Amino acid sequence: MTALLFVLVVIGLYLLACRIWPYTACGRCDGNGKFPSPSGKAWRDCGRCQGSGRRRRVFAGKA
Ligand SMILES: [Zn+2]
Repeated sequence: MTALLFVLVVIGLYLLACRIWPYTACGRCDGNGKFPSPSGKAWRDCGRCQGSGRRRRVFAGKA
């Protein structure tokens, strides 16, 4: 019973953390929001995060 309570508290804290910090770095562009060309002078937006470099966390809820 105590273990179950502990798990619930951990889950609750995680959900709370997702509410306070709803964004995480995009995994594909590593939070940069863009992919540089080999020359380094040009880049394109990351398609997964639309160039923002951030992703909404799964448990952050709707925007
Ligand atoms: Zn991205």
